[in-house]
Amino acid sequence: MDTLSPYDLSFPDLQALLEGWGEPPFRARQVWEWLYVHLADDWEQMTNLPGALRQRLAAHLPLVAPRVLATQVSSDGLTRKDLLQLADGETIEAVLMRYERRRTACISTQVGCPIGCLFCATGQAGFRRNLSAGEIVAQAIHFARILRAEGRTSPPPPTRGRGEALTNVVLMGMGEPLLNYRATLEAIRRLSDPQGFRLGQRHITLSTVGIVPEIDRLAEEKSPSGGPLQITLAISLHAATDELRNRLVPINRRYGLDALFAACRRYIARTGRRLSFEWVLIAGVNDSPAQASALADRLQGLTAHVNLIPLNPTPAYEGKPPSRQAIAAFTAVLERRGIPFTVRLRRGIEIQAGCGQLRGVKSET
Ligand code: SAH
Ligand code: SF4
Repeated sequence: MDTLSPYDLSFPDLQALLEGWGEPPFRARQVWEWLYVHLADDWEQMTNLPGALRQRLAAHLPLVAPRVLATQVSSDGLTRKDLLQLADGETIEAVLMRYERRRTACISTQVGCPIGCLFCATGQAGFRRNLSAGEIVAQAIHFARILRAEGRTSPPPPTRGRGEALTNVVLMGMGEPLLNYRATLEAIRRLSDPQGFRLGQRHITLSTVGIVPEIDRLAEEKSPSGGPLQITLAISLHAATDELRNRLVPINRRYGLDALFAACRRYIARTGRRLSFEWVLIAGVNDSPAQASALADRLQGLTAHVNLIPLNPTPAYEGKPPSRQAIAAFTAVLERRGIPFTVRLRRGIEIQAGCGQLRGVKSET
């Protein structure tokens, strides 16, 4: 990544740059608002900046929207998946979901993923590189621009200025966010900046496979107010015994369940936030009442919510989602044990935009 985009700069970075160019102190705020409030996609739109400055900015920090190589929309029109090309030619996927009143961008943090969970298309394709903070932020901005331009009105959407606004961001696309810690955190700060993009931290979810030292690091991060970060942390668990999790999620051999849950307890104690746990349900693999019971044991005393995701198909994994009856037997155990859960609806599957289906290549549909 040689060429920086303006989204790679923090506000102090931008201030320092403009000050170094001899610009008055208010310039940085003007530029920031053009980028994050007005979602400008060309320096020339920033009409209250002197022309010479616009040209200098354009030369130093190209403001180029990600190149969309392909767009697929689900038949119900609610899910849209874009294949985006980065400056160096690498490609990633990002998804926009319009469920009820939410407008959620599911964005990537890496090109590929080094973890290699058996059932995940991203993991199956291997790892290429980390994304920069700017490349992560740009995916959310990309969808925010699309929503604003469309401005649908039914059902009445949350608006900010003209058109619709993005209401949620989930870091659940390609990659493991906590293995690209610095850029991910910078992106979260940028997107939740109250003087910029203004997405509430409670509307941002970071999903991790469970990188224990980085969970501890995350617990220590502070909001601008001085308190802990208010984002939702989701842990991709998928198994409640080490024997099974070692097979499904290779990183479990390094950070086993005892270590992971100890980190989860520390995280809750530090932040006061409820945790989410993701569980991809695979027929005959991790959908038994015994696993549900082991999960309930693990969650005893934790403030947590479980998201059950019936397996989505991927090219290199043979598993199948469980039958309705098997899902009901699994959830009955959680219900009995008082564990709150949701069974995630299968959406966007026919365009391979579901959880774990992102590959960053054109899909044959
Ligand atoms: N690397 C992070 C974030 C990206 S994956 C993580 O693993 O948490 C986002 C979610 O999709 C994870 O919970 C992951 O386990 C799930 N997932 C992966 N493959 C899937 C599949 N084939 N079907 C359903 N969910 C899947
Ligand atoms: Fe990586 Fe998450 Fe996929 Fe596992 S599920 S391979 S950690 S992206």
